Amino acid sequence: MSPDTDAFITREEIDPTGEGPLSGRTVAVKDNISTAGVPTTCGSAMLADYVPPYDATVVERLKDAGARIVGKTNMDEFGMGTTTETSAFGPTDNPAAPGRVPGGSSGGSAAAVAAGEADLALGSDTGGSVRCPAAFCGVVGIKPTYGLVSRYGLVAYANSLEQIGPIAPTVEEAAELLEVIAGPDERDATTREHGAETAYASAADGDVDGLTIGVPTELVEGADEAVVEQFKAALDDLRAQGAETVEVSLPSVETAVQAYYVIAMGEASSNLARFDGVRYGPTAAATDDEDADNWNDAFAAVREGFGEEVKRRILLGTYALSAGYHDKYYDKAQDARAWVRRDFAEAFETADVVASPTMPVPPFELGESLDDPLRMYLADANTVPVNLANLPAISVPAGETAEGPVGLQLVGEAFDERTIIRAASAVE
Ligand code: GLN
Repeated sequence: MSPDTDAFITREEIDPTGEGPLSGRTVAVKDNISTAGVPTTCGSAMLADYVPPYDATVVERLKDAGARIVGKTNMDEFGMGTTTETSAFGPTDNPAAPGRVPGGSSGGSAAAVAAGEADLALGSDTGGSVRCPAAFCGVVGIKPTYGLVSRYGLVAYANSLEQIGPIAPTVEEAAELLEVIAGPDERDATTREHGAETAYASAADGDVDGLTIGVPTELVEGADEAVVEQFKAALDDLRAQGAETVEVSLPSVETAVQAYYVIAMGEASSNLARFDGVRYGPTAAATDDEDADNWNDAFAAVREGFGEEVKRRILLGTYALSAGYHDKYYDKAQDARAWVRRDFAEAFETADVVASPTMPVPPFELGESLDDPLRMYLADANTVPVNLANLPAISVPAGETAEGPVGLQLVGEAFDERTIIRAASAVE
């Protein structure tokens, strides 16, 4: 790990393969994004020795665009967390609020950018993992529309929810990075042509005159007072620049955290089945249980290598998908997901973008929330609805509390990244 913030799990340079918009720039890459010949651990002991034989599509695109990759960043194990503390490699400090968590799960990526250890970074966002660390570290993060960025080479946590997204010091730089990684990929069938304008960087022109910003009371009410104060000041500033704010309602979001965790854990339990010591993970012979004499014991011995949070999610996910409980939990969660999607669609009938605090709370102190998973899950209240609805969102710095930076989240319509980029650039 790097000496200062412990932002990196592996510090290894990867040379560019071409010249382009990222020539001369350094990029830190989250450690669940495959890099040929360079370890990709997902923050897990299970993959401590794993070296992928191929590059993720986004890594190929970075290299072709002239970027120099400077290392692989720390993260919550398999992306499961909000603080980067579930990493098997230890925590990362928050450069913008020392002694506090950098957010998660892409905490190493946001910390690397905030500390100036990389110009730009990539994270992945299943339920907020780009936006939360961006907010906590006082930098910009974008969660793209589902299907805009290839997931080929991203180690899956919950496929139907996640996207790789850029983290940068400014909105324009985040948009430049998005421009490089976005676009259809024949190796990821969920990516597609969408017909919308893709010149993202040029949208960061700060022009919000005439823009209508919807503010859902449900996503502001539960937030910390000091956070709300900064959020309101940012809205005042946007109004002074010619934007209009209207109240919108998203009643479904009260079910979003529950629905998100049922779906994410369900998908995770299935995705993580491959870590069995045969396909991935250490072989059974490398574990304590050397004389396991049947497959069940051998698998179990290997799977002991997962951390607490990952085990919890595999168990709960398996339970929620099992016969008899499937209707009760998983199907209900899918209904809630459809409801969230409908609510956003309705909000976009009156608003161009929907604004809220990115995180309802300031960054936790290191060690503070690890023993309280429920508290950690609830901190995702404002970010997970966006993943359930597969929409794009950006987190842009909007002031500070005594406990650290505050992020403003702007959500847009599917593939309308340009409008959230434009609005966010007016907040800077
Ligand atoms: N905190 C959320 C979770 O633990 C989001 C994580 C993510 O986006 N990868 O699932």
